[in-house]
Amino acid sequence: MSRRLIACEHCDYLHVEEDIPAGSVACCARCGSPLYSSEQTRFDKPLAFALTALLLFVIANIYPVLTFGMEGRVETNTLASGVLTFWDEGFPFLAFMVAVTSILAPLLLIVAHIYVLVPIWLDTSWPGMQKVWRVLAVVRPWSMLDVFLIGLLVALTKLTDFAQVIAGPAFVAICCLIPTVLLMNVSLDGRAVWRRIAPKSLRYPDQDDLKPVHEEGGVEARHHGLLSCHTCAMVVIEDPSGHTKCPRCGDAVHQRKARSLSRAWALLLTAIILYVPANVFPIMKVTYLGKSEADTILSGVAALTAAGEWPIAIVVFTASILVPIVKIVLLGWVYLATYLGLSGPLRERTMIYRITELVGRWSMVDVFMVSILAALVKLGNIASVHPGFGAVAFCGVVILTMVSAMAFDPRLIWDRAGMRTSVISFGSDRAEKQGTPS
Ligand SMILES: [Zn+2]
Ligand SMILES: [Zn+2]
Repeated sequence: MSRRLIACEHCDYLHVEEDIPAGSVACCARCGSPLYSSEQTRFDKPLAFALTALLLFVIANIYPVLTFGMEGRVETNTLASGVLTFWDEGFPFLAFMVAVTSILAPLLLIVAHIYVLVPIWLDTSWPGMQKVWRVLAVVRPWSMLDVFLIGLLVALTKLTDFAQVIAGPAFVAICCLIPTVLLMNVSLDGRAVWRRIAPKSLRYPDQDDLKPVHEEGGVEARHHGLLSCHTCAMVVIEDPSGHTKCPRCGDAVHQRKARSLSRAWALLLTAIILYVPANVFPIMKVTYLGKSEADTILSGVAALTAAGEWPIAIVVFTASILVPIVKIVLLGWVYLATYLGLSGPLRERTMIYRITELVGRWSMVDVFMVSILAALVKLGNIASVHPGFGAVAFCGVVILTMVSAMAFDPRLIWDRAGMRTSVISFGSDRAEKQGTPS
């Protein structure tokens, strides 16, 4: 019996899908990246988590997150306060990024799950389900409420030393929302959703569609005239016209992301340049009892260490200093090794790329912390916090490194391994498609 084909999104290695034991994950035989997990056909559990998440999200947005009391004056903040404060203080970029990552993307994520899971559960169909599920793939990396919670804990630690701070109902709701969203994701099989919402007449390519291969190796989807959809991971037969459309999700499918190496380099180099002002300029200006002080990322960590707040100091140091530097260095190395066509430990290089993709978002902790402090501490000369340009530059570094990793096509690591530098014209689309497997 022929079975469906699946291509690894990190190295294009072609596999035949098999049933695997419950609770296990099938990994790529060549690069080790996860391919798919055991099929979960229940949709009621993730739907229940999604509905609970929506309720918690509403509570998190209506009620105060923190109440700050000092010298007889009281200030409260909601999730949106940080966005409004950034906007009022003349930082529209920070206002936009905090709005997207802490409010809009989490809301879209939850609502999209409900919109797709309700009709599946009712065994019916609603218009645009494929489009909604497709948008979800774009939105998912930008939902950062978990990182926001860490920023909240850092802000809380900084405030408790000199003022009375009480956690509000929204704080509790955010604490409950994060595990709920996690359980929603874990209990849901994205592949099973795609199969349920796909057009009924859809035929999946299988072993019968494999063409005789003339190229050396012949282990990759492209060698058989097959492409892997970047959005829904379906293996699609390449259209001879060069414009292949995924019959399941409707997205355009390319053999490799266009000009991915040059785009990834350009974004990473901009992030490296921005990293200098991000560390030189203050991320916030703190006024306490008439005395003003400018805080850079580094001085913020030093202040936490001096106050004996070691666990929080380690978290901030890791998220704001270690992760961005390590991410820039590792991505730079992966891009350079790919550009030079180096062979060597390709499996490890792919794994490093996967890790940098996962950890980069955690650097947003400092940006969220500034948004919370600036929204909450507004007592003029007694105590006030104002955002600084360093926060804009630092937010830029985090976003640019994330977008750079997204722009890079890890399949190039394998395509270009063993190629000679002299025949590669840097950044050209043609060069990226010329690679031969190692
Ligand atoms: Zn692979
Ligand atoms: Zn697709």
